Amino acid sequence: LIEVKGIYKNFDLKGHENTTVLEDINFEVKEGEFLAILGPSGSGKSTLLRIIAGLVPASQGTVTYLGNSIQGVNPGVAMVFQSFALFPWLTVLENVMLGLEVKKMAEAEKRDKALKVIDIIGLDGFENAYPKELSGGMRQRVGIGRALVSDPDVLLMDEPFSALDVLTAENLRRDLLELWLDRKIPTKSIILVTHGIEEAVYMADRAVILSTGPAKIVEDIIVDIPRWRDKKASEFTVLVD
Ligand code: ATP
Ligand code: MG
Repeated sequence: LIEVKGIYKNFDLKGHENTTVLEDINFEVKEGEFLAILGPSGSGKSTLLRIIAGLVPASQGTVTYLGNSIQGVNPGVAMVFQSFALFPWLTVLENVMLGLEVKKMAEAEKRDKALKVIDIIGLDGFENAYPKELSGGMRQRVGIGRALVSDPDVLLMDEPFSALDVLTAENLRRDLLELWLDRKIPTKSIILVTHGIEEAVYMADRAVILSTGPAKIVEDIIVDIPRWRDKKASEFTVLVD
């Protein structure tokens, strides 16, 4: 679905001109795959995700979507941010509808689509609330809704749980995994950036691990724990309940 080929990224960091942050990154995301990207702070995970989304150009290498190398914004992805990135003056519904801004659709159709997604992510009844009236977990649900509303083939998530308290994060991880395993979210693949090994193992089918200075892929492993995989996420024993 998405192929990352020979990606390099250099930045002019303070006092170090042209520092290589990403070095020769190669991997592929197949349809149906939930991939985690793991790496220490500052290793370049967010930069890599932005390059995949086409929000930042690579210094070298290509990202392909459905076999075509992307020029500019990647039409096949949508992104969820660590800090939610909601507009405080817009309601939940309006924030989610922003995910459809560039789509050529009638306003009523956008509204219907956004309301469906709001229901799926568990915010039914909060359509007209403003972000400041919501808990952190609910705000991130809005962020996820805004990404999902455009039916992206690949959902990109940049440490989506790290701004949440432990229990809220656990709840949202479980709910999201359950929706994913039950095929209730309209996306074919997920790429989750995290620095939590446990989070990666809990959620993903595969993990790519980056080293620092410059970031290279040091491991590309299949997460295959039968005792977990043959169970539905809802049957997992987690901290909450
Ligand atoms: P964290 O886990 O803290 O989120 P990260 O793995 O996401 O870190 P990045 O945010 O991708 O790391 O940053 C990787 C490196 O690239 C850092 O050294 C950072 O300072 C540098 N960097 C990122 N964006 C820019 C930019 N726009 N200009 C210059 N340097 C940048
Ligand atoms: Mg980051």
